[in-house]
Amino acid sequence: MSGLPLIVHLDADAFFVSCELSVRPDLRGTKCAVGGRERGIISSASYEARACGVYTPMPTKLALKVCPDLILLPHTSGIYGKKSREMFDLCESLTPLVQRNSIDEGYLDLGPCGFKTAAEIENRVRALQQRIWDELQIPTSFGIAANKLVSAIASKARKPRGFTVILPGEEAAFLAPLKISVIPGVGTKSTERLEKAGIRLVSDLFVRTERELKDLFGSGWSEMLRMARGEDDRPVEVSHEDAKSYSVQETFGHDIGDFAEIERIAKRMIDELMPAIRADGKRVKTMTVKVRYPGMENSTAGRSLTEATDLEAPFYPLVGALLRAAWTKRRPLRLVSVRFSNVEEQGTQLEMFAQTDERKRRLAAVLDKLNDRGKKGLVQHGHQLPKRRE
Ligand SMILES: [Mg+2]
Repeated sequence: MSGLPLIVHLDADAFFVSCELSVRPDLRGTKCAVGGRERGIISSASYEARACGVYTPMPTKLALKVCPDLILLPHTSGIYGKKSREMFDLCESLTPLVQRNSIDEGYLDLGPCGFKTAAEIENRVRALQQRIWDELQIPTSFGIAANKLVSAIASKARKPRGFTVILPGEEAAFLAPLKISVIPGVGTKSTERLEKAGIRLVSDLFVRTERELKDLFGSGWSEMLRMARGEDDRPVEVSHEDAKSYSVQETFGHDIGDFAEIERIAKRMIDELMPAIRADGKRVKTMTVKVRYPGMENSTAGRSLTEATDLEAPFYPLVGALLRAAWTKRRPLRLVSVRFSNVEEQGTQLEMFAQTDERKRRLAAVLDKLNDRGKKGLVQHGHQLPKRRE
């Protein structure tokens, strides 16, 4: 196991309210909440409103009773999903391994990033938190640890705008003084039952005998003890809707140090992947470039377009910048890969964009057909010219 905290849990603060405040900044700092007025419930409350006793889900009527000066904001359709996608897209600029758990919460696995120290990880994740605020005006809390369980508890340790790093080996010490209810699956009922048995904090489990734990938790006792110690080995799973990605990689027979040549290879990879994306009737938004130095050390960089596309051209200009971002050590490379993610169905967007691109798309379809018939080389992009052979 790695000695670095590589698993990040991201949790947006008061997400629906934050989305509304991003377009109504004048309401920042006020007691406000998103919810339906007529027989509605509160779906998100500002921290100022929470301090006044408003929680979610709470009937709006009751919320207005406990907090009479509550500013009630109606749901705006469309903006929450959009902000959510934009937030996770920014996460994918840090690592391609992003698990979107819900609209405002998810996990990142920094394994592919090649970070060397915990300080480097902290700096990069802090920069992501800042970027989400700067670009989207969404405040977020982050927990960083060696596994999902501890990172998810850490992100909630300080909210809003929390940032908590638990170094590998410090899991048990971090969890010990926390309430037993931080353990996943310990709900209100179990908490009551455990408190009756004298177990209020996570650390209270450690002084119990195996017999006592079996009486309390039945066959799940050892799993409970594992969680209390902060042990977890569930992998970060790239979310289902996002699971489909298109990628290609090439391992070189000998290491290549020439930037222009690597750039040409990466552009050729775009040309290889995009016909498959068109054939599947998909569009993609995010491109990630991975480079590998001899000795398996990887580094990645990714970027998203503002709109998904199934054309090569919008991605060409990103290649150089992504390579410069990923290929930071001026050492020859063993491998390069290109991956497209954030896959969308064609026709899910009726953007004007599609109209202006229609001619290019038809041309691309013709080229795809020609290439299918083995006529590769009839029409080529500049970077497809034969590679210099040494
Ligand atoms: Mg949240």
